[in-house]
Amino acid sequence: MQKNDIYEIEIEDMSEDGSGIGHVDGMAVFVKDTAPGDVAEIKIIKVMKRYAYGKLMSLIRPSKDRVEPPCEVARQCGGCTLQHVNYGAQLRLKRNKVENCLRRIGGIENASDLCEEILGMEDNPFRFRNKMQFPIGRDKEGRPVLGFYAQRTHCVIPVADCMTGHGVNRYIIEAVKEYINETGVSIYDEESGTGLLRHLITRTGFTTGELMVALVINGDDIPDRELLVKMLEEAVRGYGSDNLCLTSVMININKEKTNRIIGFESKRVFGRDYIYDYIGNVRFRISVESFFQVNPYQTGRLYRRALEYADLTGQETVWDMYCGIGTISLFLSEQAKKVYGVEIVPQAIEDARGNAELNRIKNTEFFVGKAEDVVTEIYSSGGDGSHADVVVVDPPRKGCDGKLLDTLIKMNPERIVYVSCDPATLARDIKILSESGGYKLKKYTVCDMFSHSGHCETVALLSRNEVR
Ligand code: SAH
Repeated sequence: MQKNDIYEIEIEDMSEDGSGIGHVDGMAVFVKDTAPGDVAEIKIIKVMKRYAYGKLMSLIRPSKDRVEPPCEVARQCGGCTLQHVNYGAQLRLKRNKVENCLRRIGGIENASDLCEEILGMEDNPFRFRNKMQFPIGRDKEGRPVLGFYAQRTHCVIPVADCMTGHGVNRYIIEAVKEYINETGVSIYDEESGTGLLRHLITRTGFTTGELMVALVINGDDIPDRELLVKMLEEAVRGYGSDNLCLTSVMININKEKTNRIIGFESKRVFGRDYIYDYIGNVRFRISVESFFQVNPYQTGRLYRRALEYADLTGQETVWDMYCGIGTISLFLSEQAKKVYGVEIVPQAIEDARGNAELNRIKNTEFFVGKAEDVVTEIYSSGGDGSHADVVVVDPPRKGCDGKLLDTLIKMNPERIVYVSCDPATLARDIKILSESGGYKLKKYTVCDMFSHSGHCETVALLSRNEVR
């Protein structure tokens, strides 16, 4: 294969960043702007050792799964890499991706039989995100714009709304622009590091209807606080839902020249410093800085499946590794004797303890530190927490640390429930647990938490024994 070669290929799969993948003589070719099922004429633009990049020349036969992306900036924004593929096909792609990883990397030949029905969004696969952040900038004419950064740049592409977020955002964006026009407040310029307004952040409690609006600023305060609040209240009224209430208006201070969006200090402008929301029956207190799952509805379904896999009777000791703010720990605590959680970020553990208190949950205990160190030490000490009936892990994309997997095998839990945001590392870790620990994959469920993006979340059950 050489540069400028022309081929006719069928697109079979999608990469995470939204390129279609086809094959020429067994070699994978990535082609932007294509969808699985397309038959296309492509030109090779770059040949690497084990794969190549192609450019779409013409669509010979478009895929029947293609749809017109409902969002007009879907291609530029890069957030929704699968919007041009219908939702049913998106779910099939995700299921196949997990299944392929488990088979190829995990060596699980019957991966297809162990897969339960995928948990896709039930009604509308849009409007699921409870948190949005929009950079604030100016267009060529100098007018204020809110939107997103064009890929690989820091130019703000304006949007009226984002279809993955709450419908009220459209009104909030308008209100912030109006506030800028009325007050003449300055906008942050990345090059010079001057100007005040950097980002708009909105957080919505989907169950409680509580709304937080935060402005990230390069300074200590904003002018005309009352005017801003008045405009935001009008915006919420304009959206016209009885179930939504402006609960909190905050400023967050970030004076650093950095890509990090949120700074370390926040001040209240109006209402409370936080909002509440629920996952299942567990109530969470969410501040500007808090981590909280962005799709609360699907998170509840995923965790219910994790709970089902844990098969608790009320007598079990459970470890929740990589517990974050304790979402899973608190969710499981009602049906366990004791839940231990461990997480590396101290602030998250503070939130976890606070949320346990908020829900009057008394049978959880949280540790700050690296799971591999904390748990290994507790296991070696032989004291409280050295035994577990069930272990839940929910690691970041790089998967579980090898030392943690060793300790986990020694702890010898009856069940391991693995929640994963990366099927490749999930498959790798299952292989280790199987080869060194005798744990077998019993069943798994793929859950679509981020519709229209390539991300897929999986929950898997492993045990050495027969399971129900
Ligand atoms: N279950 C959590 C989210 C887990 S995301 C929830 O629903 O809130 C993965 C978490 O692992 C992150 O919070 C990250 O800070 C944490 N983490 C990363 N490396 C870690 C390590 N070595 N030990 C413990 N926690 C770690």
